Amino acid sequence: MSVSAPLPLLNFQDLPLFDQVLPEQIGPAIDALLTQADAALEAVTAPDFPADWKQMASVLDVATERLGRAWGTVNHLNSVADTPTLRAAYNEALPRVTDFWTRLGADERLYAKYKAMPVGSLTSEQAQAHRNAMRGFVLGGAELQGEAKSRFAAIQEQHAELAQKFSENSLDATDAFSLLVTEEELAGVPTDVVEAARALAQSSGQSGCKLTLKMPCYLPVMQFAHSAALRQTLHRAYTTRASDQAAPEHVKFDNSAIMQSLLALRQEEADLLGYANFAQVSLVPKMAQSPEQVASFLRDLAAKARPYAEQDLADMRAFAAEHLGLSDPQAWDWPYIGEKLKETRYAFSEQEVKTYFTAPKVLQGLFNIVETLFEVSIRPDTAPVWHPKVEFFRIERGTQLVGQFYLDMGARTGKRGGAWMDDVRTRWLRPDTGTLQTPVAHLVCNFAEGVGGKPALLTHDDVITLFHEFGHGLHHLLTQVNERDVSGISGVEWDAVELPSQFMENFCWEWDVLKHMTAHVDTGEPLPRSLYDKMLAAKNFQSGLQTLRQVEFALFDMLLHMGQAPLVDGKPDVMALLNRVRQEVAVLTPPAYTRTPNTFGHIFSGGYSAGYYSYKWAEVLSADAYAAFEEAAQQTGSTLDVPTGKRFREAILEAGGSRPAMDSFKAFRGREPDLSALLRHQGMAAQPA
Ligand code: ZN
Repeated sequence: MSVSAPLPLLNFQDLPLFDQVLPEQIGPAIDALLTQADAALEAVTAPDFPADWKQMASVLDVATERLGRAWGTVNHLNSVADTPTLRAAYNEALPRVTDFWTRLGADERLYAKYKAMPVGSLTSEQAQAHRNAMRGFVLGGAELQGEAKSRFAAIQEQHAELAQKFSENSLDATDAFSLLVTEEELAGVPTDVVEAARALAQSSGQSGCKLTLKMPCYLPVMQFAHSAALRQTLHRAYTTRASDQAAPEHVKFDNSAIMQSLLALRQEEADLLGYANFAQVSLVPKMAQSPEQVASFLRDLAAKARPYAEQDLADMRAFAAEHLGLSDPQAWDWPYIGEKLKETRYAFSEQEVKTYFTAPKVLQGLFNIVETLFEVSIRPDTAPVWHPKVEFFRIERGTQLVGQFYLDMGARTGKRGGAWMDDVRTRWLRPDTGTLQTPVAHLVCNFAEGVGGKPALLTHDDVITLFHEFGHGLHHLLTQVNERDVSGISGVEWDAVELPSQFMENFCWEWDVLKHMTAHVDTGEPLPRSLYDKMLAAKNFQSGLQTLRQVEFALFDMLLHMGQAPLVDGKPDVMALLNRVRQEVAVLTPPAYTRTPNTFGHIFSGGYSAGYYSYKWAEVLSADAYAAFEEAAQQTGSTLDVPTGKRFREAILEAGGSRPAMDSFKAFRGREPDLSALLRHQGMAAQPA
């Protein structure tokens, strides 16, 4: 490589040169950008550098944005076009990049500059970005002095180690278990699951079938195996993972003490930051105002869902007694009973549904909705891409470019599973050039490719996934905010960020939308109404029970981090609190041996501590927002109501993170969010039958 040739990763003229990046260029390019970013940090934190928003942004933000964009390109390629050399280059550079962002977020000189900034001179967008930055510093311990400061740092380190250990124990405890059974014992289990279990046994030179506690094996066995004894064995192993109740040889993975230590560290962090408990700390940057508000939201939801959950349970009991000969169902019977009841009530073929959802027709339907509601047009465009199957589009309003996006729909080797939206660059009125940078997004899915020259067929779940990610994309792409850190999805509260994505999912259940969005792969016929009716009926199966289960987890998480677990020898008795929550909200009591918190990774090793409620919270927001379109439809006959779309776009999508999510919601709905739309969408509005 000649010295004079500029590296593609250092070209920021327009779109990333995905087709030109070579693994050996990653290290040098990222190092060059890190050097520039460090120099920028030194420059703006120098004593004589003015504490002025624009002057600081045109040095520091410009440098960090370049680093972020280049690393975004590398990270994206690592996710969608993985090769051993690329992965090695990525892993080699990753610690240096992580280290820079950590140092930036903890730089006291930078905090002092932000603190010294005259906020009165900022625009409202800048003021919001400034508040977010200040809050981040304070929650990162920037206000602490001396011993408190070093203790705060030590807490973060210990916490990270223990969280890692918690997750390792969960994984090891899951992996440590296996059970060799005969094929006869698996009667009722789908063939592909049996085949996989047989192959697993064979791979270790054994005959028969080997079961594990991993989801693709555990779940179908619990749902389909006729043998109650087998289900009981697996249930016990699964629900006692990483606990003192596990088999003696697996007790070494017990997470109980780690959980107590994590809780103690979180409480200590809250004490240092001047809060009563960790739940309060967790909620500072979120939309929810207080732990008490979240707890009462969850209790309200539980009370409303309870009659439906009781009905769900009564239905299962009656069905089990009459059709399955189970007069006294146990914990390990419920998934089996539920599956059998569902089959009896709503049998329809997912395979048949799929033949109507051809990818081009679905995409055209999605684009039509977006174009109609949000007054834009979406046109194919060209850009350097990482794979020939990747599509690229531009969104325009009139002649004006609003944003662009990559669409990478198909699954293939070297591409990480799942679906996600990611930003390539953010809308930003650049402080260095004074020009407006338009936003660009990635939309990535992993759908099956078409076979035999036919278009790809999507399951209904795939369609929902596509709409979901597109909703995140719209939030990022339609923003009208000019300030980088509060533009699009940047700076949006964590418990509100799923509003646009879950909102878009609703269209996948509208008959008027579906009939225009489906075309049978052979005949071109739209989805038959009779099939749609069955899909809709199955949608809300047992939503009462499912709601209570989510509330149980969420309320347990919140109360635990409010310090409400009873103390034994000065330490929180986690199971005692969970049992108390179950007595309050659940309709089913699991066996005394279960230790579900011991593998509750969301709250002990993920980012969801005192945050698990956000799933339900965001569902309330998205359902209530969608209800505005249903109300419009009562007047106009169509949910694709343009004036409502315009209000939604302006209040929610365009505002991005420039103001609190509650303000945006109220600007759209004219009031605070209300539970009733969610309950209605999930079939919990009328009196249970
Ligand atoms: Zn999402």
